[in-house]
Amino acid sequence: MMFRADLHCHTTCSDGALTPEELIAHAKARGLKGLSITDHDTVAAYRTAPACAQRWDIALGTGIEISASFLGKSVHVLGYDISINDAELLAFCAAQQEIRRERNAAMLERLRRYRMEISEQELSVARGTIGRVHIAKCMVAKGYVPSISAAFYLHIGDGKPCFVPLKTPSVEKAIEIIHNAGGKAFLAHPHLSQPKAELLSLPFDGIECYYAMLPPEREKKWLREAEKRGLLISGGSDFHAMEGSPLGASWVNESCFHAIFRS
Ligand code: AMP
Ligand code: FE
Ligand code: FE
Ligand code: ZN
Repeated sequence: MMFRADLHCHTTCSDGALTPEELIAHAKARGLKGLSITDHDTVAAYRTAPACAQRWDIALGTGIEISASFLGKSVHVLGYDISINDAELLAFCAAQQEIRRERNAAMLERLRRYRMEISEQELSVARGTIGRVHIAKCMVAKGYVPSISAAFYLHIGDGKPCFVPLKTPSVEKAIEIIHNAGGKAFLAHPHLSQPKAELLSLPFDGIECYYAMLPPEREKKWLREAEKRGLLISGGSDFHAMEGSPLGASWVNESCFHAIFRS
């Protein structure tokens, strides 16, 4: 069977629905040979994932998805082949958890003004990085909104009444943290980030050219961009839960995988 590696997915260590163990078993069932777990602002999945991946015979490369900002806009930076024990990286993740705790409290305060009562305790049942998806799930559970997408659309999506922006490092800083942890920095879902030219002139190592269910003609544009700039290519589904984009919806082949994960 052909080697396919999904290099963008989330677990319960951030806003994914499956635990690292469940995700790896699911990857095996979907016929994937390689995987990188890229939770938002945490590498907590790698406490247990490597041993589990070995049991299932899945090639697991380390990863993270860092929320960053560039010219006032939100940009996600993927870090691959990072040392998960790097002190600066771990300190950064810990600091982001605290920043998110304060931001979550501020969003809960806003929701309270709209008579949607959720306590910090109700939110903190999840482990790892807690963000807007967890708040949305609480809103659904309490019957305040019919669905997660309604929670975003009506209340907590960017610019909506209960939205509080996340304080994030600059993209330059995110790239530096990844490089200092021995890793490679990739621009995640490039079609969602503006403006392209200035952003791509930062010291990225690669671009996420294959993303979820992006049509092939849009992927080609990013493949050409990567080639022009001598950058590596990554790809993945951004799998969060069974209802969304399926695991393995986008993937890279063996040579792309080994160009990123050299060990
Ligand atoms: P946060 O990092 O806490 O600001 O939350 C951002 C995350 O929310 C993204 O990574 C997505 O997983 C999720 N998200 C953003 N918009 C939506 C939406 N409309 N519906 C469901 N999930 C969303
Ligand atoms: Fe997410
Ligand atoms: Fe993202
Ligand atoms: Zn993601």
